[in-house]
Amino acid sequence: MTGKQRRIAPPPVNPETKPFWDAAANGTLLIKKCSACGEVHYYPRALCPFCSSYKTAPAPFWFIKRMLTHFSVAGGWLPVG
Ligand SMILES: [Zn+2]
Repeated sequence: MTGKQRRIAPPPVNPETKPFWDAAANGTLLIKKCSACGEVHYYPRALCPFCSSYKTAPAPFWFIKRMLTHFSVAGGWLPVG
């Protein structure tokens, strides 16, 4: 390590990602949940990567945290938080 910090430009904010960045500025991590297929996805985007529906809405992090805890029982992952 040289001790020199690497600088990376922040990602651009557009109408699709603005709710995510606004929530992040307030300390909340948002994910997206699709009401057509019920899947959640991250990074924020309007189109569901599972079923291509535009019926997606932001969901707070506690929602996915609960899902990871649930899957930890079934899939052998370590418990979250
Ligand atoms: Zn979907």
